[in-house]
Amino acid sequence: MLNRNEALKLLREYKAILEGHFLLTSGRHSGIYVEKFRLLEHPELTAQFAEPIAEHFREANPDLIVAPLTGGILVAHEVGKLLGKPIAFPERSREGMEWRRGFHPSDGQRVLIIEDVITTGKTMLEIKDAVTRNGAEVIGIGCLVCRGRIDLQPQPFAVVSMNLASFPADRCPLCKKHIPLEKRGSRPEKDEGGRMKAEELPHEESPPPEA
Ligand SMILES: [Zn+2]
Repeated sequence: MLNRNEALKLLREYKAILEGHFLLTSGRHSGIYVEKFRLLEHPELTAQFAEPIAEHFREANPDLIVAPLTGGILVAHEVGKLLGKPIAFPERSREGMEWRRGFHPSDGQRVLIIEDVITTGKTMLEIKDAVTRNGAEVIGIGCLVCRGRIDLQPQPFAVVSMNLASFPADRCPLCKKHIPLEKRGSRPEKDEGGRMKAEELPHEESPPPEA
């Protein structure tokens, strides 16, 4: 099964970790961007990354796996396949996350939330709210890549954890070096469903994600 260093190597090999000068959704600047779709565009690679997540939560035995669209659901599908559990997703509306298409996590259901990349945790809070609104319980959060110390309960399990380095635009060392600033993601002006992510270059010596 894929360990953290192998996963990191693959992320680099498939160019899912980009180095440069990127504008984040928060308005801050970063030298690293995680282009998750370089991984998600390969179903067999996505399946490989889903395996450590599924194994981590196998014993917890969730009833349902919930993820945000679009990347999250691709990972959730693989985790669901490995655990033999159904998946569901809420959709964003003006009122927040809504359950449509007959999805309806219900009272007492034990839910595992899955995401591709967690940067701020904002989307995870919205998903959690959608899950618990109906009385279901969030028993865990799993993701492919997560910034090191993110303030989320439960603490996410990540295949690869990284420490985020980002700078306010007026104090960005990359701006000072006149490196052209790049916008990535489909809707870089807004954080909707974690479409735009940037992470610091991971440190090889940093601790592995939760054992
Ligand atoms: Zn900058």
